[in-house]
Amino acid sequence: MSKPAPIAAIRGFRDVLPDETRRWEALVGAARAMFGTYGFGEIELPVLERSELFARAVGETTDIVEKEMFAFRDRDDTSVALRPEATAGVVRAYLQNGLVHDDRQARLFYVGPMFRRERPQRGRYRQFHQIGAEMLGREDPLADAELLLLIRRYLDRVGAGGARLELNSLGDATCRPVYRERLREFGTAHLAGLCPDCHRRLERNPLRILDCKVPGCRAIVERAPVARDSLCAPCAEHFAAVRALLDQERVAYHVNPRLVRGLDYYVRTAFEIVSDGEGLGAQNAVGGGGRYDGLVAMLGGPDVPGLGFALGLDRLAMVAAPPAAEGPGPLAVILPLETRAVAPAFRLATRLRDEGLPVGVEPAGRSLKALLGVASKRRARLAVILGADELAAGRATVRNLVSSADRRQALDLDASGPELARWMRDEAAA
Ligand SMILES: [Zn+2]
Ligand SMILES: [Zn+2]
Repeated sequence: MSKPAPIAAIRGFRDVLPDETRRWEALVGAARAMFGTYGFGEIELPVLERSELFARAVGETTDIVEKEMFAFRDRDDTSVALRPEATAGVVRAYLQNGLVHDDRQARLFYVGPMFRRERPQRGRYRQFHQIGAEMLGREDPLADAELLLLIRRYLDRVGAGGARLELNSLGDATCRPVYRERLREFGTAHLAGLCPDCHRRLERNPLRILDCKVPGCRAIVERAPVARDSLCAPCAEHFAAVRALLDQERVAYHVNPRLVRGLDYYVRTAFEIVSDGEGLGAQNAVGGGGRYDGLVAMLGGPDVPGLGFALGLDRLAMVAAPPAAEGPGPLAVILPLETRAVAPAFRLATRLRDEGLPVGVEPAGRSLKALLGVASKRRARLAVILGADELAAGRATVRNLVSSADRRQALDLDASGPELARWMRDEAAA
């Protein structure tokens, strides 16, 4: 029989190895600590939802739903999709679990994978991870300012202080239609230069021409009217109030009138976090978010306002401060020199691990020299040697691999777990 070929991961999907998961753990740990101080509790959502949830929430004419969603028919013919984002799921959960009935206010954050069938490129994957937060039941500008301050503080905390905040106001149900018409007129006047997709967008949803990625369209859109010039008085006031609160807390931001988010549900405040961080290339957004006051009602709930953001963990890890170069090795590796030393070696490893010490244990059958080489390769500080002499004496020989000091038959195998652990810690520190 021929040797089976290895199976690779699906294009755009990747493995995250321990050097990177250690970074992620630090980023997620900092989020859990800090989001808590702003009153957010963690929610764990399913990765699979009904396709209709995203069609309704994200918008049927968005690239995400039209082109990028991993949607398929389940065996019972239900149309389901791997979540392309989490806001829709959070709102569904908020309604389904009755959180909406208490005082309507909820602050929820999540961490987890999202799925979009985008063209794979550097720092962008079809399964990507996000840290995000949603604030429901608040329409006042203080809520927007709190959320933006939280993002700023979090980025600073994880060493991504170089990431910048870009801010815009997109208007609401009152003034957005006015803007949409102005855009449609502008687009119609420049029809010849726009791509076929944009022609269709002009019919169905002119706002979408603003995030077309075709270079010819981008050049035209540069000159398109901006939402800010069409804001109604309440929207303009809200935006001014958010900015005043940010200014008070000295949160730096840049008002970018071209900023629109690729999702239909945003109203009023919209923002992005951008970075010139190495390796991000042209796709320099680390995250973004905004206000979605109509979303809860769109998903069948009462008229409850909301706002939120998401940060891409894969990308954040590229711009945040680099962690220590290498993870720590085990405190000790236990080396049985012969087969009958394996069981005592295993027993010693178990007792040390029960005390919380990171230790390794090797199989027998190699020379002491080979085994010591293995222990060094694992970056262990101590090698614990168990040979015939050690077994007879009931005491292991311990070599300090950092200082090269050898302690002949010094470790009493019959000592209690805590005693063993204390002795090992002292020896490693020597
Ligand atoms: Zn276009
Ligand atoms: Zn308005």
